[in-house]
Amino acid sequence: MAHYDVIVAGVGAMGSAAAYQLAKRGRRVLGLERFDIPHAMGSSHGVNRIIRLAYFEHPLYVPLLRRAYELWRETETAFGEQLLYITGGLDAGAPDSRVVTGSLAACREHGLAHEVLDARETARRFPAYRLAEGHVAKSALSSPM
Ligand SMILES: Cc1cc2nc3c(=O)[nH]c(=O)nc-3n(C[C@H](O)[C@H](O)[C@H](O)COP(=O)(O)OP(=O)(O)OC[C@H]3O[C@@H](n4cnc5c(N)ncnc54)[C@H](O)[C@@H]3O)c2cc1C
Repeated sequence: MAHYDVIVAGVGAMGSAAAYQLAKRGRRVLGLERFDIPHAMGSSHGVNRIIRLAYFEHPLYVPLLRRAYELWRETETAFGEQLLYITGGLDAGAPDSRVVTGSLAACREHGLAHEVLDARETARRFPAYRLAEGHVAKSALSSPM
């Protein structure tokens, strides 16, 4: 009978990353997946996905996100394919909205380069966006460096 150190149930985004990192550390890992590995049926699948550094949900995420950026780059090197494209990002809304206050808190607490733009300046720099009067956008490079 085979013995495993860890069994990962569901080999989607989180499960495959966990299995990969554990196997790299020498653990015997079994991944259980209801579809093929890989497959395109998980919530993580699609043509593109975003990752944000100025995480509005809580500044505590920023160190974890820095590590995630490192791991994306390590994965690119290991598999010889660019996966992560740094584009920068806008978090927009009313100045007292959770998205704006939260992403600003993450920037300020972790020294992330950013600017706060009013609706007019946002439209000038990013013509696809028309913010409501009085709303603001926090612009950040979203680079971990
Ligand atoms: C439309 C959409 C867009 C998203 N966009 C983003 C984004 O841009 N950026 C971002 O960071 N997050 C995004 N998310 C969230 C992100 O996709 C999820 O947080 C992430 O995929 C969760 O990873 P997971 O491994 O838990 O789930 P999944 O990647 O879905 O993996 C779960 C795996 O478990 C398997 N499984 C389920 N039940 C069983 C079972 N009984 N037996 C065996 N295997 C099973 C599934 O087949 C699947 O492979 C998005 C989610 C959705 C739905």
